[in-house]
Amino acid sequence: MKRSNSEKLYEKALEYFPGGVNSPVRAFKAVEGAPLFIKKGKGPYIWDEDENQFIDFCCSFGPHILGHNYPDVHQNIVDTLENGTSFGAPTKLESDLAEIIISRNPYVDKIRFVSSGTEAVMSGIRLARGYTGKNKIIKFEGCYHGHFDSLLVNAGSGLATFGESSSAGVPQKVVEDTIVIPLNDEEALEAAFEKHADDLACVIIEPIPANNGLLLQEKSFLLKLREMCTEHGVLLFFDEVISGFRVAFSGAAEYYDIAPDIVSYGKIIGGGLPVGAYGAKKHIMQSVSPDGPVYQAGTLSGNPVAMAAGIAQLTVCSQPGFYEDQEARTKTFVESVNAHAKEKGYDFSLVTVGSIFWMAFSDQTTIRSAAQINADMTPFKKLHKALLERSVYVGPSGYEVGFVSHVHTKEVLENAAQQFKNALDAVFS
Ligand SMILES: *Cc1c(COP(=O)(O)O)cnc(C)c1O
Repeated sequence: MKRSNSEKLYEKALEYFPGGVNSPVRAFKAVEGAPLFIKKGKGPYIWDEDENQFIDFCCSFGPHILGHNYPDVHQNIVDTLENGTSFGAPTKLESDLAEIIISRNPYVDKIRFVSSGTEAVMSGIRLARGYTGKNKIIKFEGCYHGHFDSLLVNAGSGLATFGESSSAGVPQKVVEDTIVIPLNDEEALEAAFEKHADDLACVIIEPIPANNGLLLQEKSFLLKLREMCTEHGVLLFFDEVISGFRVAFSGAAEYYDIAPDIVSYGKIIGGGLPVGAYGAKKHIMQSVSPDGPVYQAGTLSGNPVAMAAGIAQLTVCSQPGFYEDQEARTKTFVESVNAHAKEKGYDFSLVTVGSIFWMAFSDQTTIRSAAQINADMTPFKKLHKALLERSVYVGPSGYEVGFVSHVHTKEVLENAAQQFKNALDAVFS
């Protein structure tokens, strides 16, 4: 595989950016070599600067649930662009996108658009603290909630991959109010509530933890969490930046039928452009400025071009059967690969929910907490290379999940499954 153009571009990028990238998970640090520089994407495929074509399961780390350059999304962006890009004044498009979301979502009465998942979570935490008048928060080990200070404690893939448990530059004072407990552990949850319940503003969780492996929680654990929050007057914050509009239109809340008090969205909501959102019931959202005392703002928030992309994308996602179809195609793909791994006796399986999958190098069938993940990433490194050689692109970290889009057809997935099998044979031979 020719990679010289990517290599040259990487050399240049190294002069300008730390590690040559603008977000650490894009670096090939965990898998070695230069990252591939991507020139274009169409449907389920991407092409790099050396003209290599790949089936793309990274999908920009989640946003592209319709694949790359989906015609409706493309057209709505172009049409909106004709009228300019940003005004610092309200536009109709913001309400149009909000209506698509809120009319189908029983968990939020009002939302606020921001420009990233990080911003959505950060603002939601401020709201939880402002609304309750309390400061402490509980988060779970292995859940990633973006890169803002008070949640950079035992966070997701970028940090796990680089072997750091936290970030430099975050004052101890800032994380003092963040209590970290293991996932899927009712005893730890009870102990934390016993000690801190009176000071807790919220408990934040990725209801489908998918940033540090795919750590599917038992529904009974999530129900217990809901119950304890209700009992103690603590807000339950579902960070659905990855699971929202992915496993169901209204995310994991709908998938599990568990109502959170505050929700954050990102990734899919913006159709590939920078959008995040947080939302809650009316009485909570009333605390947000200018209605209430919790300040939050953004020059480019609700950007019309980004709204247009979100509108087109979520309109397709809201069609009947969309998520059933996503899940069915993904399941067939996953089962095909897993049957092969099992038959050959490889310590490998794809873990899946909805249209998300994760490559687990383990013979354990359920991995529910960060501590259960096999920390030896050598086999992932080999698999990543073997997949690239077979024209399949996955994120360059064994802690990242893969995403199946609407345009990863049965045929594309059959081909991908075959490439996975061949790559596994190469890794385990
Ligand atoms: C991706 C992600 C974030 C951060 O979103 P950005 O847009 O990268 O800032 C936060 N929480 C979860 C669950 C995510 O998956």
